Amino acid sequence: MKLYGYSAYELLDMLSSGKCSSAEIVRDVMERAKETQPLYNSYITFNDEGADDAAKADAVSEKRGSKLRLCGIPVAVKDNISTKGIRTTCASRMLESYVPPYDATAVANLRAEGAVIIGKTNMDEFAMGSASDTGYFGAVRNPVNTAYSAGGSSGGSAAAVASGAAVLALGSDTGGSIRQPAALCGVVGFCPSYGAVSRYGLIAFASSLDRIGSIGRNARDVYLLHNIINVADVKDVTSSYKKISFNLKGSLRGLKIGVPGELFSPQISDDVRAAVEAAVMTMESRGAVVKYVSLPSAEDAVKAYYIISSAEASSNLARYDGVRFGYRTDNYSDLSEMYRKSRTEGFGDEVKRRIMLGTFVLSEGFCDSYYKRAAALRTKLCREFDEVFGSCDIIAAPVYPKAGISLGGSISPVECYSADICTVPASLAGLPAISVPCGRNADGLPIGLQLIGKRFGDAEVLDAAYGYELARGDVYDRA
Ligand code: GLN
Repeated sequence: MKLYGYSAYELLDMLSSGKCSSAEIVRDVMERAKETQPLYNSYITFNDEGADDAAKADAVSEKRGSKLRLCGIPVAVKDNISTKGIRTTCASRMLESYVPPYDATAVANLRAEGAVIIGKTNMDEFAMGSASDTGYFGAVRNPVNTAYSAGGSSGGSAAAVASGAAVLALGSDTGGSIRQPAALCGVVGFCPSYGAVSRYGLIAFASSLDRIGSIGRNARDVYLLHNIINVADVKDVTSSYKKISFNLKGSLRGLKIGVPGELFSPQISDDVRAAVEAAVMTMESRGAVVKYVSLPSAEDAVKAYYIISSAEASSNLARYDGVRFGYRTDNYSDLSEMYRKSRTEGFGDEVKRRIMLGTFVLSEGFCDSYYKRAAALRTKLCREFDEVFGSCDIIAAPVYPKAGISLGGSISPVECYSADICTVPASLAGLPAISVPCGRNADGLPIGLQLIGKRFGDAEVLDAAYGYELARGDVYDRA
């Protein structure tokens, strides 16, 4: 088998026993990435220096007498995470030729452990969307079936891992953007507790919600990647000093699982509901205890999420005015025309919609009835989660209401937003949440099980996901 088909753990074993070299891994994965690019459009930019980076990782490992923890492992990085010397576009015309002069902390952590940044992955523009189809570089197609979207906004990262075009990937999750594409492409995606991974170098969408997280083909690989980026960082004031150090055990005995009715609303399709319920029963058969719980405010979480995230986006994106950052229009007669035309030409429709919505909900006269109410709902939802976690260890729910998103389908923005019902509650509350594959529908499209943990209960979430994979039998699907 070609090396791109192995998990990170297997590759690291093969490397230490001399069965393959870092150079061979990088070569195979890069070849696979380039060969699949016309099919799935997972990448925006390839890093052709990968082979040199693998050689450097080998040299450092040699010198210190033991392998770096990710020595020679090809990792894809979502294109809103800054990479020194490698173009970082946020899938926007606005940043089409932006090359960051520094690495995001998460990227620096990866490089320090010998990981090879294989390229920058395609996404929704500024991470706004759920189908990786709002970006300037075209939509990402699902490797399972190319008539469908890879999901979004980290669609390129999920599609790359699913197709062997990367072994591991970093994504970002503001309202579901790691979990949803992971579910739709049939891989594992983990959104850690807010504060567990530094946001330094992540290009901001909605700062109180944005998180960097890990995508891999199984829970162990995701655990490996998460442990490397779970580092406190003085460059991000919201970064936490709680380092989550633990070993995966995978035992489900006595695990109290809460099942909230609000996240199994009639909007959830029958095939998704059946697969998620079956997954919960599998966990029960391994000794977990299931309890029906309630999160009443989750029903309004989508509204609160779109108000808060758009408000923050309208402020964060004000910096793109053509003066210091990004695209500047060619023709203008005065300063205000330069601002207006640069923003009009540089941003796509979805980004403009969010900026307008965000500006409106913050404007005088409307702020109280929109932004402040949304913030109050967020606080209420956090309390409801606290209460549920008083008697449960983990919450189980679907990730996305349907098993597939058809590409080119014409759904309205509101329909698209409402499909975030299952992922935004954990986003608003800053809780860790993972998506693990739990079956396929009749058309062969993957379905994800979401497990949500307490704040800084990241270890429990990863362990429960691993336990579920063991109970499910097949630990991962090869690329
Ligand atoms: N679909 C959500 C949105 O469009 C989530 C995006 C994300 O998590 N980055 O805002």
